[in-house]
Amino acid sequence: MNFSQKIIDLTFEAEQKLVDTFARIDEISFKNTQKIMNSFKEHRVSEAMFNPTSGYGYDDRGRDVLDRIWADVMGAEAAFVRHSIVNGTQALTIGLFGLLRPGDIIFSIAGKPYDTLDEVIGNTGSRGDGSLKDFGVDYMQSDLNADGSFDFEHIRSVLTEHGSRVKVVFIQRSKGYLNRKTLSVAQIAKATEFVKSISPASYVVVDNCYGEFTEENEPTAFGADMIIGSLIKNPGGGMAESGGYIAGTPRAVELASYRLTSVGVGCEVGATLGQNKNMFKGLFYAPHTTAQALKTAHLAAYIFDALGYEVEPAWNEPRYDIIQTVITRAPEKLCAFCRGIQAGSPIDSFVVPEPWAMPGYSDNVIMAAGAFTQGSSIELSADGPLRPPYTAFFQGGLTYESGRIGIMSAAQAMIDIEK
Ligand SMILES: *Cc1c(COP(=O)(O)O)cnc(C)c1O
Repeated sequence: MNFSQKIIDLTFEAEQKLVDTFARIDEISFKNTQKIMNSFKEHRVSEAMFNPTSGYGYDDRGRDVLDRIWADVMGAEAAFVRHSIVNGTQALTIGLFGLLRPGDIIFSIAGKPYDTLDEVIGNTGSRGDGSLKDFGVDYMQSDLNADGSFDFEHIRSVLTEHGSRVKVVFIQRSKGYLNRKTLSVAQIAKATEFVKSISPASYVVVDNCYGEFTEENEPTAFGADMIIGSLIKNPGGGMAESGGYIAGTPRAVELASYRLTSVGVGCEVGATLGQNKNMFKGLFYAPHTTAQALKTAHLAAYIFDALGYEVEPAWNEPRYDIIQTVITRAPEKLCAFCRGIQAGSPIDSFVVPEPWAMPGYSDNVIMAAGAFTQGSSIELSADGPLRPPYTAFFQGGLTYESGRIGIMSAAQAMIDIEK
């Protein structure tokens, strides 16, 4: 990889400007690591806990202890984490079907939930597929205000009108692929308190994907009943091979565990098949790996801003998730960006990504991913739909060094096509 002097100088300049930001990120990583190590110590984590179980998986000490540690670290009373949960969408599905009953309402107060939940809720897809709607669960939504804050007046009116029918108040922490700001834990805490003051029996459920360990605490430390996420994002630390987690209050987690396995069985079974070590190690690494991704995102924001692109968040703004957007304004620029990320990846660096029609998307999409674990987006990855304003969404970076190389490579590719 050859980088022009311009890119090398710009990277150096960015790192000078980001010294304080990087120090703050390291401080958060340190505090979260300390929390994890204290919990490992308290629960006397030992090598024997990495032994695989098979069959029912009764008395899997590692699994049970990791559940306890997960709860501690998330500031929750209970949790389960399983390699067998295939992705974040399944973890969210387990949580929602665990809590909701016919006649209930799920009320999303941070706008539209992540795309993959549309069919789970039943807002798209076919009648009879088994969505929440098929089971008599209604959906309501409150959009965020233009400045990204909650619309408390509207939330109050819905909660007051529908009362205890609102079983789940749903909050997506990260912007995902929407054009809005990511919510901070402080904002979610305030909304949780507000919801509970009007409707104490409602469960506050947070889609925590991409937010874990970007701050010192998770929403469960401030009263959320349930947080849900994927292990091939932040909390798997780039080490977990697959999986998802749910943490929260004992009753909420118990109800979710009955969906994970079956009613009455819950979390007490589930062979770990040798995956415990990866999950323990992943959690151990997670604050650090998340810090690497955050630094990579800050660096990218600085460089692409300096090259004249609109970026969100700005290089000097605080971050509550690991996602960065770059508005490229031209299809060939978006493609060059993704080609550069791919070329700067450790795996499949020789592959040239092309825009493609993807199921569920109305426009062609280009994606770059050169990851050790398939689809892992804590590893440097990028994608964007081929439609104006040709926004590249990207996240990750297992190590800052490799993330830095990926970003320099993307910037170089975009400069090169101007020639
Ligand atoms: C990644 C993500 C999910 C789940 O996606 P999967 O691909 O199923 O893991 C849900 N919500 C948000 C905000 C996400 O970023």
